[in-house]
Amino acid sequence: MKINDFPRVRFAHLPTPLEPLKRLSKALDGPEIWVKRDDCTGLSTGGNKARKLEYLIADAIAKNADILVTPGAIQSNHARQTAAAAARYGLKCHLLLENGQDFEDPMYLTNGNALLDELHGATCEYLGSGIDLELLLSNTVAKYTTAGMKPYSIPIGGSNTIGALGYVNCAFELVSQIKEMALTFEHIILATGSAGTQAGLVAGLKLAQYELPTLGMCVSRSAQVQQTNVRSLTMDTLAIFDEDIELDEKDVVANSDYVGEGYGIPASSTIEAIRMVAELEGLLLDPVYSGKAMAGLIDYIRKGIFKKGQRIAFLHTGGSTALFAYRSSFYSD
Ligand SMILES: *Cc1c(COP(=O)(O)O)cnc(C)c1O
Repeated sequence: MKINDFPRVRFAHLPTPLEPLKRLSKALDGPEIWVKRDDCTGLSTGGNKARKLEYLIADAIAKNADILVTPGAIQSNHARQTAAAAARYGLKCHLLLENGQDFEDPMYLTNGNALLDELHGATCEYLGSGIDLELLLSNTVAKYTTAGMKPYSIPIGGSNTIGALGYVNCAFELVSQIKEMALTFEHIILATGSAGTQAGLVAGLKLAQYELPTLGMCVSRSAQVQQTNVRSLTMDTLAIFDEDIELDEKDVVANSDYVGEGYGIPASSTIEAIRMVAELEGLLLDPVYSGKAMAGLIDYIRKGIFKKGQRIAFLHTGGSTALFAYRSSFYSD
């Protein structure tokens, strides 16, 4: 199979730009930092889930689905973009939204992504912490089936092999941009959560036979667990291409030093990274994913792991809509 053989609908604004962050690079006095703008994919304020949804929606349509069902955190960007894609293709959408950290801030509960989910017409089921989301997802799907509907279940973050195809495609897009612009990069950095983005990217780079060391900055799990998850999805994704490709140890690397207290809780380094990039570049990161990944990149530069003379790519996976839910992390009034 080739990437173009897989069913896909097209709505994302692609290719996303690849551009230098000159003032940030100068301020850190280290490598040239470039950003791959997947925050600009166009669907309901953009983000990485648009690429995954191009393949997931095509599969849902092929299966005659009439309702998408997916779980996520209350401030899930995946839930928001799934609701938007459903609206665009005339499908219903039901979201299982978990308050995993028992947040009480009304901004968190109702603004940002939660506001947009409702605007896109999704039905939202708000849940407390400690819910078995996978079990609830399968029960919900069964309930819709019994009611005579055709539900299409999307796992958390859209991270299965079909969703990961979006990032296989991104890898091909990036490699051709890099070649066109006659650039080389020492490394690419991204936030990694449900694993589909990193797995697809790594699989795509392998398929393109392009060497670009990839580092996933964790947003919740330990690096070891994350690497296991990413590796397994990368292998499953490569398997559907029927190509005999070996995965080395160094192909799947994650770092969990910048997670802070846990998923959805920004660390002080997250807040610093968001402020720095906003003030120096006019670019918005987010408190759950890209802010943590950028905090890791900044620390690697300060520690001299990435240095002058090198060029580093940062995959901006989006998420800035959540800033409106996290006002209290920046201002106390
Ligand atoms: C979902 C998400 C990620 C993580 O991607 P995964 O495929 O879940 O690992 C990173 N950044 C943002 C903004 C996201 O919404």
